Amino acid sequence: MNDERNAIYHELGIEKSVFEYCSNIEAGLKDRFVSIDEVAEINQLKVIQAMQKNRVNDTHFAESTGYGYNDAGRETLEAVYASVFHTEAALVRPLIACGTHALTVALAGNLRPGDEILSPAGKPYDTMEGVIGIRPQKGSLAEYGITYAQTDLCEDGSFDYEGIEKKLNERTKLILIQRSKGYQTRPTLSVKRIGEVIDFIKSKKPDVICMVDNCYGEFVETLEPTDVGADLCVGSLIKNPGGGLAPIGGYIVGKKEYVENAAYRLTSPGLGSEVGATLGVNRAFFQGLFLAPTVVAGALKGAVYAASIYERLGFMVVPDSKESRHDIIQAVTLKSQEAIIAFCKGIQAAAPVDSYVDPEPWDMPGYDSKVIMAAGAFIQGASIELSADAPIKPPYAVYFQGGLTWYHAKLGILMSVQKLWESRLISL
Ligand SMILES: *Cc1c(COP(=O)(O)O)cnc(C)c1O
Repeated sequence: MNDERNAIYHELGIEKSVFEYCSNIEAGLKDRFVSIDEVAEINQLKVIQAMQKNRVNDTHFAESTGYGYNDAGRETLEAVYASVFHTEAALVRPLIACGTHALTVALAGNLRPGDEILSPAGKPYDTMEGVIGIRPQKGSLAEYGITYAQTDLCEDGSFDYEGIEKKLNERTKLILIQRSKGYQTRPTLSVKRIGEVIDFIKSKKPDVICMVDNCYGEFVETLEPTDVGADLCVGSLIKNPGGGLAPIGGYIVGKKEYVENAAYRLTSPGLGSEVGATLGVNRAFFQGLFLAPTVVAGALKGAVYAASIYERLGFMVVPDSKESRHDIIQAVTLKSQEAIIAFCKGIQAAAPVDSYVDPEPWDMPGYDSKVIMAAGAFIQGASIELSADAPIKPPYAVYFQGGLTWYHAKLGILMSVQKLWESRLISL
């Protein structure tokens, strides 16, 4: 068996020395993988239980068109999401274009002129700076008289509780907590820590809305932010919860009133969640959610595998090989332009789609340096699929995530090591 397997790895271009180096490291990861599978098992059961409780049946996969009134599939899917996240309500729609849009709809629907947002974990995700108006942007919340305040995490990564308390005022309407570090160096927040900061804030100001940007975090743990006090939780379906099958979409789960407010912004005041045809995506949404726990487990194994290999090779990795995981993103500081290009070429060469394409650095709009990206995905831009990107500037860190299966993530990482090895950028 192993001979047959090794022969295919060899045909794909992985040299014996690279394969053996990485296999030795993989052998030490058995316990980590067992705990990842344990989380996946619980989450899989949670999803099945939610589908059974809401009596999912074949008619729910039918498409609706036009206004989309009485789309039973859409309504049942939203009930399933509400069950999985233990919330009163959910909005899960193909009309939500991406994660940024879902976050925008949740914010704009729940904030009014004069209200203030407080972010207790530092600067939010890049695209959110324009949405909020931290960086001037036409149509931002700032243009509607909504202000923004922020406290940074302390140097050791803990919350600055004193600073948070000082920033809370009578205008503070909504707390925006970003679970994932995104493409920053701060640690990702565990669900437990999110619960702690929510408890603290609610003890000072009980009526505030606590909203979590849950992108990249779904199903990494057995609890979600809504299990520890979040009033709203928001994410993208082309990341974790779409399971690789959702071709578009976003979700907003939480308290009925707040989800309804978001629906009035997504469609129209008065229409809310009653309209919105699903155009045949219901089946993919259901099936993607069903697969999501194991897909996330595969991506996590890939991230742990990569961290372990690149750490051994002498590079700085965040999170490190031993740390507990709260999202699927892995950062590796490769220290040179040549190394990040080689890494991305390896990820690309391992893809099922566009494997023959050579990624090159380019001037991406909105970035202050060239960026290189590797992805060979079935769904354009889906970052639950194996993908990597890196700004071409010091410290030359590459961020990578996803992999619909562990075996694909493994091949991608093996191929990245192979490319670095071929370019004589590492020694084994
Ligand atoms: C991906 C992401 C977003 C934005 O999602 P898009 O689908 O790219 O618009 C927001 N916040 C975090 C933490 C993310 O990872």
